[in-house]
Amino acid sequence: MSEQFDFDLFTIGAGSGGVAGSRRAASYGARVGIAEDSRVGGTCVIRGCVPKKLLVYGAHVAEEIEEAAGFGWTIKDATFSWPSLIAAKDREINRLNRIYLGMLESAGVELVEGRGRIIAPHTVQIDDRIVTARNILVATGSRAVLPPVPGIEYAITSNEALDLPALPKRIVIVGGGYIGVEFAGIFSGLGSEVTIITRGDGLLRGFDPDVREHLTGEYVQSGMKVFSGAEVGRIEKVGAGVRVHLQNSATVLEADEILYAVGRVPNTDGLGLAEVGVRLGARNAITVDEWSQTNVAGIYAVGDATNRNNLTPVAIAEARAFAETVFNDNPTQFDGSRAPTAVFSTPPVAMVGLTEPQAVEQRHVIDVYLSRFRPLKHALSGSQRCIAMKLVVDRASDVVLGAHMVGADAAEIIQGIAIAIEAGATKRQFDRTVGIHPSSAEEFVTMRERAVPVRVEDERANVAAPSMPGSSVVAA
Ligand code: NDP
Repeated sequence: MSEQFDFDLFTIGAGSGGVAGSRRAASYGARVGIAEDSRVGGTCVIRGCVPKKLLVYGAHVAEEIEEAAGFGWTIKDATFSWPSLIAAKDREINRLNRIYLGMLESAGVELVEGRGRIIAPHTVQIDDRIVTARNILVATGSRAVLPPVPGIEYAITSNEALDLPALPKRIVIVGGGYIGVEFAGIFSGLGSEVTIITRGDGLLRGFDPDVREHLTGEYVQSGMKVFSGAEVGRIEKVGAGVRVHLQNSATVLEADEILYAVGRVPNTDGLGLAEVGVRLGARNAITVDEWSQTNVAGIYAVGDATNRNNLTPVAIAEARAFAETVFNDNPTQFDGSRAPTAVFSTPPVAMVGLTEPQAVEQRHVIDVYLSRFRPLKHALSGSQRCIAMKLVVDRASDVVLGAHMVGADAAEIIQGIAIAIEAGATKRQFDRTVGIHPSSAEEFVTMRERAVPVRVEDERANVAAPSMPGSSVVAA
């Protein structure tokens, strides 16, 4: 590697993508530096996926306690302490932060604390230090959007929601995407009154319609209020809480907190990108090619800063592909468009591949298999919760195009199904697979009946929304 520069690679942003790309490059002998102006670990580890998932676990305990009586348990005087949960979460995040710091150190990656800014080709300034690098990797992630609504200064984002001093008794959540529904599940599970406001036609736009319908039903059944086609007109501060006025409506909601989760924008301001000629696209996302390379030689970008498929494992895979290509002479591209994904709502949602509308839009002639059932556990727990599963199959080739699930362990189950779909498995191969009994997952290999009439191309619009087959309890 060249000594003409201080580093072979200088990365801006020590989140999931930045750390993964830096470590992989260093493992091939590159001299690597990384700038971070906050805590090493980034959004996912410090203020996103990981702390959120820990709170989701906390919320699930309430469900277990509620269901315990059905299994003969008497749990008296169970109480919950939000500060204890937050403190436990913080301890774990601190531990992970130390692990990330250790990983950089053991990989020989130099951490430069401060905000990086590209001031010239191959040159980055971090506070008053200037470094040169043959390659620069921008992995600065994204931040929550707060739209210009009067009183928006009284709203919190997911960052603050993870560190509230007290559990809100009532919370209004604006946005029905990943973050909105995940926090709704957390707060509702822990006992808050939750109202979700979505401007569109409900929760999780872009997910399969049957999944959306099922999750909405579960949320409403568990006591949450979901307003669709509604927008916030203004927010007023009232005592320690807020009053939320909906637009074009007399509805006024009172709450202790209002959480905005209406999307995220790439963190690309103040990085000097436009000044050195790096092309930016919609929402100021960095435009890159399939090698994660920008239009400026030597400058690359991965993760949310590029606004492709904004998921942690995708950012990591993009970063590793970059390091393989540039530092290991092993040209590697990563296409994250087919990545499986999960929403850690309560119950969780997970999917891989195409939704039914996407399959139709891509002009597949499809068969759809739908199943809705009460899992065995609930025969005793008394819970009315049902699980929904769906397969979308290409009729001509029999290839399974998409798998969808709402229900306990959806992420764990769909991860396995994703391997089958990645391998191009057919419905016949699903059917030949022996189920694990009794489990919920076995339903994916026992769906024999087409649940709805086949929807072919544009006929979809003329077919009434499918009704799921009646509930059944999995036989023990
Ligand atoms: P999403 O894009 O998932 O959802 C945004 C929601 O806000 C939608 O319901 C959208 O409505 C609504 N919305 C957008 N703009 C406005 C507005 N001006 N006023 C009112 N509502 C609005 O964003 P999130 O913030 O929930 O999450 C950001 C990203 O973070 C996700 O897309 C995902 O990539 C990532 N993420 C992934 C997680 C995971 O993998 N489990 C967990 C958390 C985040 P409409 O549907 O009408 O557009």
